[in-house]
Amino acid sequence: MSEKTDILTRTLEELKADMEEIGEKSFRAKQIYEWLHVHHAGSFGEMTSLSKALREKLEKNFEIPSLRTLEVLTSRIDGTRKYLFALEDGNVIESVLMRYSYGISVCISSQVGCRMGCRFCASTIGGRVRDLTASEMLCQVLEISRQAGERVGHVVIMGSGEPLDNYDNLVRFLRIIGDPDGERLSLRDITVSTCGIVPNIYALADEGLPVTLALSLHAPSQEKRERLLPISLKYQLPEVLEAMQYYFSKTGRRITFEYSCVEGENTSPEDAVMLADLVRGMNCHINLIPVNPVEERAFRRPDRRDIEAFRRMLEKRGISVTIRREMGRDINGACGQLRRSYLEK
Ligand code: SAH
Repeated sequence: MSEKTDILTRTLEELKADMEEIGEKSFRAKQIYEWLHVHHAGSFGEMTSLSKALREKLEKNFEIPSLRTLEVLTSRIDGTRKYLFALEDGNVIESVLMRYSYGISVCISSQVGCRMGCRFCASTIGGRVRDLTASEMLCQVLEISRQAGERVGHVVIMGSGEPLDNYDNLVRFLRIIGDPDGERLSLRDITVSTCGIVPNIYALADEGLPVTLALSLHAPSQEKRERLLPISLKYQLPEVLEAMQYYFSKTGRRITFEYSCVEGENTSPEDAVMLADLVRGMNCHINLIPVNPVEERAFRRPDRRDIEAFRRMLEKRGISVTIRREMGRDINGACGQLRRSYLEK
């Protein structure tokens, strides 16, 4: 690994300080920032509005990292694409592009692997290898945008990893991608998904970054949640919900609950009643996701009719709920599966 600074991890403010440090005027920072985040320059040589001397100086002190694309799978059903990327140290991550009527949405990973241990998830099987840097998160968005030839409208941090277990890099990434001088993605069009790391839900609420927060709820009670999410032994359901309420009160962003439907676990009529009682009065939306069967795990999805019935029971109780449209069913599928099959090869 080189000693150069990864320039894509620098906020505009930091870049201004960097410029002063190498004896340049701080206004250069804005020019460079635009080259990187508006024009998506892949090298300093492309930054033709800068003098050759400055470009050489940048070359000596900084690097612009990139991802190497190992594999792209395209769904013949809906155009969803799964990307397998290699990081500079050889680790492998996956990201997904989804096409909606309102534009393209990119789902990115926040860690190599994951240590949360959710029972039905493929990403956690080999544990966490390491956190991703802010620039590695950003590069997933930039690389997919470049390959698709389209501007990315939405970003969801729902790939492998627990974003609130990589808090500082996550916040740095959000500041850079939301910066009006750079990528200019609206923070409202970004969703962070968490299994419920309570202290960091509070911290994020206080950052002044009004992204949508989604909680992986997956069960209507503490007892049932413990069977699916080991992290809930540490952060219990009542305190997680209180933290989500706090997030809403600070940001005004409606809360999303993700609810993976698992046969025999969480979609009985009693579960629907319990779930409706649990979230009643919260400004929230529930996303039902038929669980993606993972080879190493024994979980199966309920019958479609049971999921529909579960949804209707929630609706009847006044809860806003949808069944998530399944994207890229033919290029499977669940969080972390592409990476796992690659590692096994
Ligand atoms: N760690 C974060 C974000 C990554 S997982 C979180 O827990 O929210 C994104 C979502 O996919 C989570 O709701 C997770 O529980 C869910 N998920 C993971 N594996 C799944 C599978 N096999 N089937 C259905 N949903 C799954």
